[in-house]
Parts: sequence; structure tokens; C-alpha cells
Amino acid sequence: MFTRGAILATIIAIANQKGGVGKTTTAVNLAASLSAKGSRILLVDLDPQANATSGCGAALDSLNGSIYEVLLGKRDARSLIHDVFVDFNSTFDLLPSHISLSGAEVEMASFIGRERKLDEILAPLALDYDYILIDCPPALGLLTINGLAAADSLLVPVQCEYYALEGVSRLLETVQLVKQQINPDLQIEGVLLTLYDSRLQLSQSVANEARRYFGEKVFATVIKRNIRLAEAPSFGQSVISYAPDSTGAENYTDLAAEVMDGCVTVAASN
Ligand code: ADP
Ligand code: MG
Repeated sequence: MFTRGAILATIIAIANQKGGVGKTTTAVNLAASLSAKGSRILLVDLDPQANATSGCGAALDSLNGSIYEVLLGKRDARSLIHDVFVDFNSTFDLLPSHISLSGAEVEMASFIGRERKLDEILAPLALDYDYILIDCPPALGLLTINGLAAADSLLVPVQCEYYALEGVSRLLETVQLVKQQINPDLQIEGVLLTLYDSRLQLSQSVANEARRYFGEKVFATVIKRNIRLAEAPSFGQSVISYAPDSTGAENYTDLAAEVMDGCVTVAASN
């Protein structure tokens, strides 16, 4: 089991059923930061809105299929992987999404083992990567369940704004159900404070509340509100390529270091 970490990818699902909390921003920029540090990365866009796909500069028209066809068993994942530029030394792989994925939950409803489709798809790919990141949609439906079923751990972005923690307990109930019924080994990778604005008392109080509630599960790294993070997707780039000297790039680089440290600790302690 524990040599597993050394040879198979660590699969991290990035999920929160709330929209606009920084899931996609985290998925793309953590993928880029980890690959800039030399890790082999696959980013799986599991959201029918395909924001991670367009944010990585994958021109939707030029793609000849998406995770949708893979989930339905019509295409092989490897044939659809798209290469994403980070810097002159690093790239990462993207398994793109498409709006057609919005029909998948209905089409998959009658499948036997429908919760484990993504797990089956990623199992053979796990040998080729150090980390596989899954950008989940803003819902707790079958797609997110597939993400949680395939993952070793869950990263929960929480935005430092009103009602930030509302809904997180429902997410954790879903995690418990997935652990009981599908994936007993699922861990909480961490809670990530996003859209932090140090000028706002509110940001500080949400951060304090999250640390009281989740304790050491909250990443030490906080993602500050940074305009470069919001601009980068419209150029089809991660912030690591678009604005490498920005606060956003610095924050996600720190997060990547923390994720890598956490994984090293787990491997070493086992
Ligand atoms: P989700 O995937 O959870 O719906 P996104 O990552 O798409 O959330 O973020 C929602 C919006 O907020 C996007 O327009 C994104 O560019 C912006 N955003 C996310 N994180 C930051 C940040 N740290 N600073 C500034 N804008 C951000
Ligand atoms: Mg998103």
C-alpha cells in the first residue's frame, strides 16, 4: 500500500459545491506550480462549464473529444490529453471537459458502477504522473461523487467572504458517505482559504473561524485576492506563465510546496 505513493500518482479532488470559491483557479494554478517544481501532473477538468479547459488555453473547437466521451466509454483518455505550457522547462497534461458533459449524469444513471467510472479511467494513468488534480463541478452530483471516489484526498477551497463555511458540512457529509460506501481511504488534503483580502476585517474573521473549525487541516498558505489570477484565464494561461512575479503566482507556489511536503510526510511516516 505505501510503496503506492512512490510509484502511483496522488489523486487530489478539488471540490466545494459552492461556485466561485476558487476551485478552478486552484486546480489550474496548483497544476502549473507543481509542474514548475518538476512534478508530472495531469489536470482533469470534470466541470461541464469547462473553465479549467479554456483557462489552460485549450481551444475547445480544436479538441477532438473530452472527458465526456471517456466517461461514456467512447474514447481512450490518453488520446485526448492536451499539453499545457507552464514555462520553458515545464508543461502539464490536461484531460479537457466540454459542455456536453452536462448530459453525462443522466446518461450514466443506468450504468453499473457509475460512481467509479473516473476511478477506472484514472487507474492506468496513475503510473504516469506524480499528481492528478480533479477540478470538480459546483454540485454534489454524480460527477463530484466520481471525483471523490477516484481521489486519495480532497482539497476544499473556501472563500474568505460571507457564508464561506455554509455548505462545507454538507460536503463533509458527502465525503463520509463516499468513505463508507465507495472509497474508505479518502482523506482531507486540506481546506484552502482563497480570495483573502487583508484590508477586510471579514477575511480575517472567516480565516479565524475556519482555523477554529478545521484546525491543522487548514493550509498555512492563504490565497490572496489578486487581479492577475482573475486575468490569466482570459489569456489561456496559468498565473505561473502569465504573471510569474505576481502575488498569485507566489501564493500558489507556496501551496504547491505545502502539498508536496504533506505527501512526503505521509510517505515517510508509513
Ligand atoms: P470556482 O471554480 O469555485 O467556481 P473560480 O476559480 O472559477 O471558482 O473563481 C471564481 C472567480 O473568481 C473567477 O473569475 C476567478 O478568476 C476569480 N478568482 C478566483 N480566485 C481569485 C483570487 N485569489 N484573486 C482574484 N480573483 C480570483
Ligand atoms: Mg470552477
